[in-house]
Amino acid sequence: MIRVRLLIFNAALGPLDYRVPDGMVVEPGSVVVAPLGPRQIIGIVWEPDRLLTSAVADARLRPLLAVLPVSPLRSELRRLIEWTAEYYCAPIAAVARMVLASGGALKGPATVTEYRLSGGAPERMTPQRERAIAALEGEQATMRELAGIAGVSENVLRGLAGQGVLEPVLVDCDRPYPRAQPSHSPPVLSHEQQAVADTLVAAVQQNRFRPFLIDGVTGSGKTETYFEAIATALAQQRQVLVLLPEIALTEAFLGRFAQRFGAPPVVWHSSLKSTERRRAWRAITAGEAQVVVGARSALFLPYRKLGLIVVDEAHEVSFKQDEGVRYNARDVAVMRARFERIPVVLASATPALESLHMADTGTYEKLVLPSRYGVAELPHIDLVNLTEEKPEPGRWLAPRLAREMVQRLERGEQSLLFLNRRGYAPLTLCRHCGFRFQCPNCSAWLVEHRLSQRLACHHCGHETRPPETCPECGEADCLVACGPGVERIADEVAEILPEARVALVTSDTLGSPDKAAEFIAMAEGGAIDVIVGTQLVTKGFHFPELTLVGVVDADLGLEGGDLRAAERTYQQVAQVAGRAGRGAKPGEVLIQTRHPEAPVIAALAAGDRDAFYAAETEARRHAGAPPFGRWAAIIVSSEDEAEAREAARSIGATRPVQPDLQVLGPAPAPMALLRGRYRYRLLINARRSAGLQDVIRGWLGELKFPQGVRVSVDIDPYSFV
Ligand SMILES: [Zn+2]
Ligand SMILES: [Zn+2]
Repeated sequence: MIRVRLLIFNAALGPLDYRVPDGMVVEPGSVVVAPLGPRQIIGIVWEPDRLLTSAVADARLRPLLAVLPVSPLRSELRRLIEWTAEYYCAPIAAVARMVLASGGALKGPATVTEYRLSGGAPERMTPQRERAIAALEGEQATMRELAGIAGVSENVLRGLAGQGVLEPVLVDCDRPYPRAQPSHSPPVLSHEQQAVADTLVAAVQQNRFRPFLIDGVTGSGKTETYFEAIATALAQQRQVLVLLPEIALTEAFLGRFAQRFGAPPVVWHSSLKSTERRRAWRAITAGEAQVVVGARSALFLPYRKLGLIVVDEAHEVSFKQDEGVRYNARDVAVMRARFERIPVVLASATPALESLHMADTGTYEKLVLPSRYGVAELPHIDLVNLTEEKPEPGRWLAPRLAREMVQRLERGEQSLLFLNRRGYAPLTLCRHCGFRFQCPNCSAWLVEHRLSQRLACHHCGHETRPPETCPECGEADCLVACGPGVERIADEVAEILPEARVALVTSDTLGSPDKAAEFIAMAEGGAIDVIVGTQLVTKGFHFPELTLVGVVDADLGLEGGDLRAAERTYQQVAQVAGRAGRGAKPGEVLIQTRHPEAPVIAALAAGDRDAFYAAETEARRHAGAPPFGRWAAIIVSSEDEAEAREAARSIGATRPVQPDLQVLGPAPAPMALLRGRYRYRLLINARRSAGLQDVIRGWLGELKFPQGVRVSVDIDPYSFV
């Protein structure tokens, strides 16, 4: 009899053993269906000595039901799953679930019926039919998707199909993607770029673990250098994974990639349709997807023969997942490359302090691109001291910034204003009684969105229409907006430059890949004069006519006492400054601040990156913060305030006592109420020697909590709310 151990997707149960029936062949990594009580579950066959559980007698084992028609997960990926679970104190089943990210793909090959216009006409034309036929010209998709495109009901389309106006087409769900060609359109590289590209190409050819940090100023052409490494991997028939922090950036990337390689890469992100998801997943596991570009979740997919991983804009905070498995894709990417024995490239103009430290201590190889590509020069940066150069009452842009924008418009050049605040105003209050609009589910103010006429919570999604009268004192017309969001800045631009074409760029306006593509095309085509945006506009974009960048409030990120506040401010402002002057015309950056003397602001003004990093490194060393020490957070939450407090207290009462580890708290979290749950937090600061994860596992493993209490561990946290 053959006994196997399964990793199953039920964290409460742990691994289970089964019997392999006669005639069935499984190996470690096989994805199988097994019985559990009256239900069927999916599991992954695992090495029994790596996944401990209590033994069950042979006679009591139930047989496996089926092996799913997908390639077994390779051992390199199984080791990555184990490592991620161990390092982030996460259930191994939760990590494995990220690998099997498409339920449809597990069912094996499939076809789907799509429809397209046949060229025929219906017996009777109705306005709806006419509209549908006009809208569906050149389209082919499922009934449901076509109904969405045409804006009519599926019934209308079924009527058209019944009369032969729409014809069915049987489509292979796993039809191959267009092939990227390594030698389609090689670029002309500068000497600096060529040196970096040569090193990366050699590393791909060597085919062993080598971590690189490309430290290149904005506009230096980092992408082109790692494209050469991708070309080499393609020529070797190996797969490449490129991680990007946001969907909006992916759209800009696709065009550049297709120009270089003659076909777009395979895209992976959360807004893929389920059919696209299964097609990508199956192509990835079959080794047919040559280059995959995606958000952090693409990292755990079951690539068959990976040859290179690239993490672009590697400093970005969005690589850290703050729910479920709380991992940092940048760090796990390096581990994946290590298990796969391949090179990994982290690219950034403003590397994370941790990454620079790894390079300085020789763990990563640093490749430097110190100057911009072609004739472009780095922009000139100047501070606007808002305590001296005051904006007019009720305005947020200083007269000098406004004047510069007028000049840009007269010269036909573009300006960009950056403010990392969505909506119209971050706080609304009653002028009469002082009432402030707060989210009922969170410790947060409701943000006014004037375009969509709502007050919204950015943490839980709660929305309400602004009332006519104050809910507290009943006074009418007494609500005032406090402080600016990007919508308010866009209004101000319209007052200063009534004739300018203004684009508002936030996750509210640029939420989908299509919208992002549309914005990029308009900005590149000169159809936009002024861009007003949040952190979405800070990186990746390359608009040659953009010659002025205004940072509306550089002090914003420094509030709130985040461990990385100074670093994040430096990165955001340096990145958005890097959007200016990327073509032949010189760029100018104006940074509005009330604290020109703050070290990070002074370093930005002086363009003295080394001084900033040196000072920040010393501050971190002094505080025992990463990379010199380590942090972890334990968040305890419950819908019941007393229950959350009591659970946090019991954790605090059993805190480990050892000299290289300090536990702070428990205390109410800065977001003491989030999505209706009360939250308490403990912070742990440990030296590198402390064995942090083992300590936490041992500590929390001893404790029992009521049903409604959730205890989550965040290793190397980025969010301190
Ligand atoms: Zn009031
Ligand atoms: Zn809320």
